[in-house]
Amino acid sequence: MRNLWSDREAARFVRRYKRQGVNADLALRVYTSRLLGGNPKLVLHGGGNTSVKTTLTDIMGSPVEVICVKGSGWDLGDIEPAGLPAMHLAPLQKMIALNTLSDENMVNAQRTNLLDSTSPNPSVETLLHAFLPHKFIDHTHANAVLALSDQVNGEKLCREIYGDRMGYVPYIMPGFALAKKAAEVYRENPTVEGLVLHKHGVFTFADTAKQSYDRMIAVCTQAEQRIKQSRKKTLVAAKLPKRVAGPAEIAPILRGLTAVNGKPMALDFRTSKAVRAYVDGKDVAKYSQLGTVTPDHVIRTKPLPLIVPSPAIGDLDAWCIAASNAVDAYVSNYHAYFARNNKIAPIKKTELDPMPRIILVPGVGLFGLGNSAKAAAISADLAETNIEVISDAVAMDSYRPIPEYDFFDIEYWSLEQAKLGKSAEKPLQRKVAVVTGGGSGIGAATAKAFAAQGAAVAVLDRDAKAAEAVATSMGGLGLACDVTDAKAVGKAFGTICKQFGGVDIVVSNAGAAWQGRIGEVDDKVLRQSFELNFWGHQNIARAAVKVMRAQGLGGCLLFNTSKQAVNPGRDFGPYGLPKAAALFLMKQYALDYGQDGIRANAVNADRIRSGLLSDEMIKSRSKARGLSEAKYMAGNLLSREVTAEDVAQAFVNLAKAEATTAATITVDGGNIEASLR
Ligand code: ZN
Repeated sequence: MRNLWSDREAARFVRRYKRQGVNADLALRVYTSRLLGGNPKLVLHGGGNTSVKTTLTDIMGSPVEVICVKGSGWDLGDIEPAGLPAMHLAPLQKMIALNTLSDENMVNAQRTNLLDSTSPNPSVETLLHAFLPHKFIDHTHANAVLALSDQVNGEKLCREIYGDRMGYVPYIMPGFALAKKAAEVYRENPTVEGLVLHKHGVFTFADTAKQSYDRMIAVCTQAEQRIKQSRKKTLVAAKLPKRVAGPAEIAPILRGLTAVNGKPMALDFRTSKAVRAYVDGKDVAKYSQLGTVTPDHVIRTKPLPLIVPSPAIGDLDAWCIAASNAVDAYVSNYHAYFARNNKIAPIKKTELDPMPRIILVPGVGLFGLGNSAKAAAISADLAETNIEVISDAVAMDSYRPIPEYDFFDIEYWSLEQAKLGKSAEKPLQRKVAVVTGGGSGIGAATAKAFAAQGAAVAVLDRDAKAAEAVATSMGGLGLACDVTDAKAVGKAFGTICKQFGGVDIVVSNAGAAWQGRIGEVDDKVLRQSFELNFWGHQNIARAAVKVMRAQGLGGCLLFNTSKQAVNPGRDFGPYGLPKAAALFLMKQYALDYGQDGIRANAVNADRIRSGLLSDEMIKSRSKARGLSEAKYMAGNLLSREVTAEDVAQAFVNLAKAEATTAATITVDGGNIEASLR
């Protein structure tokens, strides 16, 4: 493992933070925390924590001895001084005299010793940091150390490698008892450079930030070398079907099967040589079913992944049944796991949803699952890390993490249970929305409106850069797509299914206005308009319905049909005719797919300053009518200009209107000629 310390960078951190009134200790703590956090083999997604003991000045100008420990909600990779809340050190150290301390009382003691009452909760491993005397302490869940420690003879192996340089702490769940035990192991040999926490992770410490970091890298490097030397075997591949279905094809099916009470999760597909070697392995049902490599992954991934059969091409119906059976078995095993462990738990717990957060598919790869696209990505990242560590452990000998009850203890930790039901989900959080023509105007406003409601959004646009720019601003997926090309549409939906697992809402918005007097206009113009303003909608709706039916969770099709669909403008036939057809397309989808729970609705917008109505057009039209631009734009019953955001809101409202299908809503400030019914 490369040591990335740089004297120049370190000095730069000290100078930079000095200007913000942050002392050199804390500046260097930020620097090496980021070095650790930037390496996924050491730390992933809020895992790991660091601390520094230093002197600050209180409001009266007096010096106070404090400990700054990573706060919850911060990642080491991009931590700031604010992410390392300071606490009075002495009162925390005194707590070592207690025999026991509940998690709730521990959290309370940490909070009451904060210097800044608005700080985030310091790590649950704070007391471990406080009970050790060193100025700088680093803690990671390093992959290489876990691959050794998670062996049947893990402790012996670690002692062999590190000897007296490290202390060895048996597995205890994080909290007061672990902190006390770690301090006790340290006191037995105060010359140690760090502690191996059996089947959990590793601590290193020193008087300087550099030395503590150096020690962490050295410990990991030694572990990596040992793994390399002792690799005895490679994973043996199982016999799999020659041709298997792709991830885009099976993702919507798995997404439907793992929905809880009709509420689906997001899925995130991953594959690589290492992932395939693991999921294709003959013994995958053995080594993947023992638990996660370090306990704190359990909160995100559950102890065990689901394995489904390999999806042979040409036999997908049989695979659906087999996959459904596998999900059912997973759920009943989870209920049994909960019941078994809850029976012996001192405090009775509330069962969490029983669905897997990782699905392994031999011959294909893996899916991470979560209640948002971000959560799914985290599950998938952790799955890849688990695969790396378990593959190494199996290659050396045999993998053996903590026992089941210890996993249960973490998954049903009182501090985690306390959060249950407290974080309300946004209204469309579990939905995947696709917006065409999303790179600008009404489409971009609509994509943003859906993202604001919590949906994972895919932005499709002919202009790849525009699509990406809008998608990036909301953490979505931006794709180049010409909606008149059915093949390109199919490909885009495949990419969306790999990224998010499926599709729930489609806003078919891409369109453009063509003009011409209908008796004289060139056929080419009319056909071109039909390609985009009718076939574009049909291509999108057809692809969407295919995915929605595979999921079996219903769905929502939304069309931008414009007021032209019902109220033709003079010389706008080439635009209005395909739009009128698109209005009927909406009704046809509502009729043909209502039985699948798929709703279809449309929005008739008019005179929106964006996209179809350019600034020049507004100028010339208002001039032709002898009106100011503002008067022209507000030329409707309500005398108010209608914005792209108004249209976006109408799409959002229709997406939420669970009992509405085959409806058209006008968003035009009132235009009696274009009104329906
Ligand atoms: Zn830890």
